[in-house]
Formats: sequence, structure tokens, C-alpha cells
Amino acid sequence: MLCFHHPDYHYPLPEEHPFPMDKFSRSRAMLETELRRGRFVAPEPAAWGLLHRVHREAYLESVRDGRLSEFDRNRLGLPDNARLLDRCRRETQGTLLAARAALEEGLAVNLGGGTHHAFADRGLGFCVLNDVAVACAALEEERPGLRVLVVDTDAHQGNGTHALLRGRPGRFSHSIHVGRNYPAEKEAGDLDVPLPRGVEGPEYLAALSASLEEALARSKPGLVLWNSGADIHRDDRFGQMALDDAAVAERDRRVLAATRGAGIPTVVLYGGGYNRDRRRTARLHAETVLRAEAWA
Ligand SMILES: [Zn+2]
Repeated sequence: MLCFHHPDYHYPLPEEHPFPMDKFSRSRAMLETELRRGRFVAPEPAAWGLLHRVHREAYLESVRDGRLSEFDRNRLGLPDNARLLDRCRRETQGTLLAARAALEEGLAVNLGGGTHHAFADRGLGFCVLNDVAVACAALEEERPGLRVLVVDTDAHQGNGTHALLRGRPGRFSHSIHVGRNYPAEKEAGDLDVPLPRGVEGPEYLAALSASLEEALARSKPGLVLWNSGADIHRDDRFGQMALDDAAVAERDRRVLAATRGAGIPTVVLYGGGYNRDRRRTARLHAETVLRAEAWA
């Protein structure tokens, strides 16, 4: 099973910064030991020309040159500079390479990605580039007629992905999330499932199964991009859901059974994860990848 990952450097953030950048290297270290058939590949940065098909050039240049306004820097939540953009370009390329690999082999993983709050001209909520929208843009040329379903089970609405895929032929954007949580301004997707704050396993899983069934029936996909999200766990700082370990495992099992189990090529992406215990965030992402390996 191919696993794409960022290069080995950390993007340095202060210890008190809310974004757990260390989750990527921590989970990768776990998976290098625990996956039985993992093959690890470090992507090159996604091409500028490809990024421009989704993102405004002025926005990309502002991030690269560290020229975001203070307002834009604050709503992104990360310090803008060339190193951040390089890291995110590699992360984005990982999603495209995972999509190509899944179409060949059935299932592939990007140990990152799912940066679903990024729009064409702005980054929000730690999301610089919208990797899913960029991968979909590349696939439009590479695989004309391919139908793509985005399954977004991160605890927050995939607002940027909704906006960037809206009206694109053969693209279906799903999101199951807490209704009264970030982002305050929602975007209409093809299928949205807003849930109450503090939702627990049984209610969540029933809504998930129903929405997966509807999304698959309506979109008839040839590829699923699954933004998993570790922030549905009850000990997450930002997710505002209350799923315990068993419910998170059942979430994974249901998504994988509905997609890969039905023979649909599937890509697993990380999305958000901000557990109170930083090591636990990495563990939750790694567990999802380990479960996916059973379906590879
Ligand atoms: Zn999230």
C-alpha cells in the first residue's frame, strides 16, 4: 500500500501553537513500524501550473513571499513563507499521487492532506492549499469522465472543497460535521450532514451510514477521496464531537466497507486532529491508516 508523506523536516511552530505539526512525523514513524505492506514515497512539490488552476496566483505568491496581510495570516493560522508553501505543495502532490495509485491498485494513503478550508484566494484554519480540489483539477485532464466523490468525515465542514468543486461535472462533495462549529459561514455542498455539538457514537454512525449510502447512490463514483479527520474523537480540542475509540474505529470500518468494500478505488487523507494529548493525535491518524491496510 503506497503511503505518501511530507519530507522529514518539521515546519517550526512555537510549542504553544494550536496546530500539531508533529503529528505527521509521529504517525509516519508508527506506520513505518506497524504497516505490513506500507511503501513510503516522498512527493515533489505540486507544479505551479497545476496549483494555478485552483488557486489565484496573487494568493500563492503572497504565501510564498510572506506578504499576507495580518488579517489573512490570522485566519490561516500559520506563518506564511516559502518553507510553508513548499511543504504544502508536497502535501498536495501526495493527494494527487495517492489518487493515481488508488486508480491503479485500489487504495492509497496520503499521510496528510484533507486541507478542506482552503479557497481559491485565501487559506483558512491551517489549510493553505486545497489538495482535493487540486487533485480533482489534474484528474479532469488525466481521466476525463472519471466521477469523483469526496467523503469528508472531519468534524468541521469542508467549506473550501464545497466551494471549489461546486458545479464541476462529475464531482460530488459530501461533508458530515458539527453544525454549530467552525467555520461559522458554511458553504453549500452536494450533501451536508450537520450534527449537534457533543454528538455521540450511535447517532453519528447512523447519520454517517445513511449519508454514505445517499452520496454513493447519487454520485456513482469511480474514485473516492476520503478526508477522514481525527478530530471527531471526544478528547479533541476543536472537533466538538464525542466519539470514543470504538466509535472512531467503527466510523473507519463503515467508510472503508462502503467504498473500498464496494470495489471503488479509495484514497485516505488525514484532515484535522487536535487531541488534548498530542501523541494521541498521531495515534488516531495512524490507526485509521492501519485499518485501511486491511482493505488495500
Ligand atoms: Zn476538522
